[in-house]
Amino acid sequence: MLSKSIISSRFSHIPCGTVGMISPQAFSTTASREEKKSYKLVVVGGGSGGITMSAKFGSKLGKGNTAIIEPMETHYYQPYWTLVGGGLKNVENSGRPMKSVIPKTVDWIKDRVVSFEPDKNVVHTQNGHEVSYEYMIVSMGIKLDFQKIKGLPEAFQTPGVCSNYSLHTVTKTPQAMKDFKEGNAVFTLPNTPIKCAGAPQKVMYLTDAYMRKVGKRDKANFIYNTALGVMFSAPKYAAELLEVAKDKGIAVNFQHNLIEVNSVKKEATFEKLSSDKEPKETVTYPYEMLHVTPPMSTPEQLQKSPLVDASGYLTVNKHTLQHVKYPNIFGIGDCTNVPTSKTAAAIASQSGVLRKNLKAVMAGQPLPGQYNGYTSCPLITGYNKCILAEFDFDLKPLETFPFDQGKESRLMWHVKKDFMSPLYWHLLLNGWWEGPWLFRKLFHLGMSR
Ligand SMILES: Cc1cc2nc3c(=O)[nH]c(=O)nc-3n(C[C@H](O)[C@H](O)[C@H](O)COP(=O)(O)OP(=O)(O)OC[C@H]3O[C@@H](n4cnc5c(N)ncnc54)[C@H](O)[C@@H]3O)c2cc1C
Repeated sequence: MLSKSIISSRFSHIPCGTVGMISPQAFSTTASREEKKSYKLVVVGGGSGGITMSAKFGSKLGKGNTAIIEPMETHYYQPYWTLVGGGLKNVENSGRPMKSVIPKTVDWIKDRVVSFEPDKNVVHTQNGHEVSYEYMIVSMGIKLDFQKIKGLPEAFQTPGVCSNYSLHTVTKTPQAMKDFKEGNAVFTLPNTPIKCAGAPQKVMYLTDAYMRKVGKRDKANFIYNTALGVMFSAPKYAAELLEVAKDKGIAVNFQHNLIEVNSVKKEATFEKLSSDKEPKETVTYPYEMLHVTPPMSTPEQLQKSPLVDASGYLTVNKHTLQHVKYPNIFGIGDCTNVPTSKTAAAIASQSGVLRKNLKAVMAGQPLPGQYNGYTSCPLITGYNKCILAEFDFDLKPLETFPFDQGKESRLMWHVKKDFMSPLYWHLLLNGWWEGPWLFRKLFHLGMSR
């Protein structure tokens, strides 16, 4: 049974890492390594973006000149959780010790940043350290706000309620599929920015595939309640996904935002965002299985800093990734206000731009790197089927392969299931993968953007 503390607000700032207190030994080790608290480069956050950038700059700047501040013991490859939730992979294989992914040339400050003083080039940590920098990369990700849905933390302790978005709730998804007898299978997408906006649908199509395989699909009413007004941001893939949902007999309700779960009655209540009444009209669905994609937001420590916009996101120039006010600060990944879909694929592409631009700033040169918004989402639509969406800031396709990726394909399924995990661990986190642009150029005989 899932402990209530796991999903309480106390830990809600932890988007993906191991829940638990950090051992005293760990701090004393850190303290002895931390005699030098002044660095040329400080990276805040050791997720996909932070590890990738430390790999790029750790050896370039030389030992002792780069530090990464990250409190968690384990680094997780979060896209794996879609496969874990689909019952196709084991959750244990989604994480590796943080120590093993931080480059040897980079000092790991195993601590949490609690405040930023960008006018003094200083950050303060929970453990009472003051760390100064010449340059800083902010890569703090976004957190899961399960507690913002009334009744949801309690509901996670009951059968049938699950979420692929957290380490602590993802294994409930295959269990909910197995336990399902008869009734509604409800899938949600919230009214905030989220990471991997395709994941709320991928879990639904894998559940559909499972139910067909075991012969209970006719016992289930599939309902997709999304706060968005479209199936997916990029129109080309939105049209295809609407067809996929229709073919599978899934009812799609736009502008439906989950606000409450009553786990005693097994009911989920949604506000209708299209309603012009105040308070908005609501609609309640009984559920047998409920997969929740929670609202998300940046960590509080970043939200209360002078580095963010009104919605709490790090304000960077969307093309250069440089902070709009502090030229020695850059951002990468989910915590930035860059208007593209938040994915590890976007981070790969951003990492090449950031590598060039940070190097140029350090050398006092103009910034050469320009990010075009490239992002990608492998939209699994069933066993052996996947649509690989790739697009830019204008939501226009920027596809790697020389065929129409808008159609379901077995090859793309294998790309997602078998190829992307080694790509992540071995190439991206070592700073060697900056997105598929070279392959795109080659496959399109140099004609692609
Ligand atoms: C279910 C699911 C499916 C996904 N599927 C895909 C997919 O198919 N393809 C894809 O490309 N992407 C996918 N993603 C998205 C992808 O995993 C994220 O976009 C990416 O990992 C974000 O990287 P990040 O570095 O911005 O943040 P994270 O990797 O979340 O890292 C942020 C880090 O910052 C640390 N941190 C937070 N606050 C502080 C602080 N105060 N001080 C110090 N450190 C702090 C955290 O501990 C964490 O380690 C998926 C995500 C999920 C959850």
